[in-house]
Amino acid sequence: MFHQHETKIYSILKTVFGFEAFRPNQESIIQNILNNQDVFAVMPTGGGKSLCYQLPARILPGTAVVISPLISLMKDQVDAASGAGIRAAYINSSLNGQEMSDVYRRLRDNKLELLYIAPERFASHQFLETLKNLSISFFAIDEAHCISEWGHDFRPDYLSLSNIPKIFPSAPVAAFTATATIRVQQDIISKIGLRTPHIIRASFNRPNLFYRVERKASVNSQISACIKNHPQESGIVYRTTRDSVMETADYLISQGIKALPYHAGLAAQERNKNQEAFNRDDITVIVATIAFGMGIDKSNVRFVIHGDLPKNIEGYYQETGRAGRDGEPAECLLFFGRGDIPKIRYFIDQMADEKERSIACEKLRQMEGFAAHNICRRRQLLKFFGEEYPDDNCRTCDICTGGKELIDITTDAQIFMSAVMRTGQRFGIGHIIDVVTGADTKRIRELQHNQIKTYGAGKHKDKNDWHSIADELLAQEAVQQVGDRYPVLALTPKGSEVLFGKERLSALKKEEPKGPETVADYDRVLFEMLRAIRKNLAEEEQVPPFVIFSDKTLHEMCRYYPVSYPDMKEINGVGQVKLERYGGAFIALIKEYLDNHPDIAIPLKPTAGKSPQPPKKVGQTVEETYVLYKKGLAVAEIAKARGLSVSTISGHMECLIREGREIKIDDLVASAKREPIEKLFSGSGQWNLTPIVEASGGTVSYEDARLVRAYMLCRAEKASA
Ligand code: ADP
Ligand code: ZN
Repeated sequence: MFHQHETKIYSILKTVFGFEAFRPNQESIIQNILNNQDVFAVMPTGGGKSLCYQLPARILPGTAVVISPLISLMKDQVDAASGAGIRAAYINSSLNGQEMSDVYRRLRDNKLELLYIAPERFASHQFLETLKNLSISFFAIDEAHCISEWGHDFRPDYLSLSNIPKIFPSAPVAAFTATATIRVQQDIISKIGLRTPHIIRASFNRPNLFYRVERKASVNSQISACIKNHPQESGIVYRTTRDSVMETADYLISQGIKALPYHAGLAAQERNKNQEAFNRDDITVIVATIAFGMGIDKSNVRFVIHGDLPKNIEGYYQETGRAGRDGEPAECLLFFGRGDIPKIRYFIDQMADEKERSIACEKLRQMEGFAAHNICRRRQLLKFFGEEYPDDNCRTCDICTGGKELIDITTDAQIFMSAVMRTGQRFGIGHIIDVVTGADTKRIRELQHNQIKTYGAGKHKDKNDWHSIADELLAQEAVQQVGDRYPVLALTPKGSEVLFGKERLSALKKEEPKGPETVADYDRVLFEMLRAIRKNLAEEEQVPPFVIFSDKTLHEMCRYYPVSYPDMKEINGVGQVKLERYGGAFIALIKEYLDNHPDIAIPLKPTAGKSPQPPKKVGQTVEETYVLYKKGLAVAEIAKARGLSVSTISGHMECLIREGREIKIDDLVASAKREPIEKLFSGSGQWNLTPIVEASGGTVSYEDARLVRAYMLCRAEKASA
């Protein structure tokens, strides 16, 4: 059935948010909320969760309540929503009494579409009573994994959210998270008490992120070298300890990089100041512990560097997920050194709970595997979340793009594994390396391991080389580690095959991988100018620059040079409100710039005129259809004559109309039939066929809708030319 909101959601998408199309799953989540259904959605960071509740908040009467764990995040979200013209506010401990009663007044007067609240409020009976007297459209729970002990970010505060479905039985609840294994998902659904929710598990693939792992050596200069490949771009550098954060920040500053530190040891005021400086593009790089992140909602982070091995893949995925939220290419670089593993293990050993300890060990092992395996990084990440990556080559990770040469490591593998066998598969990597390199240690003498045949057989390589061989054997599952605390090596069946010469092993020769794809070309001079006025506007309005326009939007302006309001509106990310608010300033600057650069040729934006498909040059088969049409055949007759389907032929006719060929629309769709279709399109404010066909209640076919659409678009283009 045709839903009354169907066309509304498309027009709001464009006019309020300035987007042409929904990202995967957004539409179905929104439809379910509008249909009063509970929703559980796992969407990767940057997948566009906020839109999923901001858009229905705009449509449904009453206030949508969003539960969000961090105060700083709330402020950014409210800024961004208000920037798009949505009536939004938040309630948290940072408000003073006056501000608080202001918000309550707006709530009671039904003046708010969107209200952000911290989870701890839901433990307060009094607060719940207040909420009960308001008109609530629905609840959205962000970072919902915080309710599960099985996640990696459990917050006891979240447990009180189970009150919501009990106290507000008629309001739908939508729970969102960017990280949930299946087990965590089940936990979340039952803890909140979602009622047979509509479940969405979006792909965790982030195609615009380039993953790269490099061997860690002198990490500060390695980090600095990477940053210098990203001049003027925003990035986050994660380090494990406060000391290393300070050290790296100092080093980068000494290299002339605009960097600031962020860690829990800094005074709250300084921390906030540094985060704001980063948000506002006053600095380009923030060097931080993992304390930094939950509160960051910056869309134009172009790189995330890990100077140390993260503790687990969930954390790594979330941290790298902060790169490229605007969908433009971004780089994720991890410096991996085995020396980091014992440090993390030390912390794990301090954990009191045996079970927690073993979960943490297993997670560390997986993380280590990600860094050490010579297997597509993307494939490994997705596998961790239970997803199979379909392609052999992702083209956006160091393994897939490295063009890496293979080297045969069979002989070294045999030396190593022979030492493992001959010492009874009872020793760890360090000891085996001592054996093969012929180290003269007390332990070796005591165990008489200097007597075995492979003692010293690997003298031609140093210990680091042998560590790499061990990595490789683990990665390719020729050997495995047994036991958590003091893991010992054992051969797998595959290892035995190699040891006895039945199978060979090769590894990737370590090489410099190619860099990530660069952002599609744009006018960099103009970009700097637009960035400057964006910064001014942001300062005037006291919001971070990306709330005005994202980098991606500016890049587009620097490709298509919009100098009129209709052209500006075609730019991705420019909705009606932003057009009215900021369009003029940007148009004026672009005009002036073009006046000063008369030689610039302005390309046509491929999606100009909101056309669903850019008109293509028609091919041979379409020409044949045209010839038959010119002979006076009707669509059905052409189809019959050519042995093609009616829908194929109407596709051809669509191309021809869009091309501007001489075609009488009356021949194709009689005017009596055409007029109601035109009305449906005009009324819906969008160009998708399905809503039109459905709205007609079966009286309009796809073919007719498609032809009329082409006719209307062609007419509009002629009119505006
Ligand atoms: P999440 O909360 O899932 O991490 P956000 O809601 O912050 O992601 O969205 C990430 C970015 O994607 C934002 O810059 C947002 O404006 C943009 N975005 C969201 N939906 C769309 C869409 N349908 N088309 C284009 N950009 C979108
Ligand atoms: Zn890959």
